[in-house]
Amino acid sequence: MLNIVLFGPPGAGKGTQSEKLIAKYKLIHLSTGDIFRSNIKGQTELGTLAKSYMDKGELVPNEVTIRMLESEVNKNANANGFIFDGFPRNKVQAEALDNLLKSKNTSITLMLALEVSEAELKKRLLLRGKDSGRPDDQNPEIIQNRIDVYNNETSPVKDYYSEQGKYKGIQGIGEIEEIFNSLCKEIDTIK
Ligand code: AMP
Repeated sequence: MLNIVLFGPPGAGKGTQSEKLIAKYKLIHLSTGDIFRSNIKGQTELGTLAKSYMDKGELVPNEVTIRMLESEVNKNANANGFIFDGFPRNKVQAEALDNLLKSKNTSITLMLALEVSEAELKKRLLLRGKDSGRPDDQNPEIIQNRIDVYNNETSPVKDYYSEQGKYKGIQGIGEIEEIFNSLCKEIDTIK
C-alpha cells in the first residue's frame, strides 16, 4: 500500500494536490476537514459537535476525530492506499494512525509537507473564503487562530515522521503543476 500524509498549514494547497495525487496513484482521499463539513451539511450529531470547534478555528477533540478516521479507513478495506489530508494534526493522532495501519499490516510510506509563508497563507485563505463561502476562511481572527494552532500543536508532527525517516518538505508556492511534479518525484523515488 502507498499511504501518504499530505501535511501543511491551512491554505497550503493540500486539497488541490490531493485531488491530483489520488487520480494519478489511485488512492483514497481522506480529508478530516471535508468529512466534518459533510457532517455539518447533513446536520448529524458529529457535524454539530465539530462545528462548535471549527467555527473558532480550534481542533475537534482527538477521541471523535480518531474514531471517525478509523471508520473511514475501515470502509475502504481494499484500497491501494490513502492520502491523509488534515490528519494527523497532533502526536496523539499520529500514534493512533500508526497503530491503526499496523493492525492492517501496513504503515505510512511518506509525509509530504507543503511549505508556504504565513503571509501567502492568509492571502489564499481570504480568497478561498470569498469563493467557497467556508465560514472559517472569512474571518481574519479565525484564520490567525488556525495558523497559531498549526504552529503550536500540529507542526511538531513533522518531528514525529522525521524521526522515522519519512518526512519530506516541499516548496508549496508556485504553479500547481510544478508543485504536483515535486510531490510525484518524491513518491516515485520511494515506491
Ligand atoms: P481543514 O479543512 O483541514 O482546514 O479543517 C477545517 C477544520 O476542521 C479545522 O480547523 C479543525 O477545526 C477541524 N479538523 C480537521 N481535521 C482535524 C483533525 N485531524 N483534528 C482535529 N480537528 C480537525
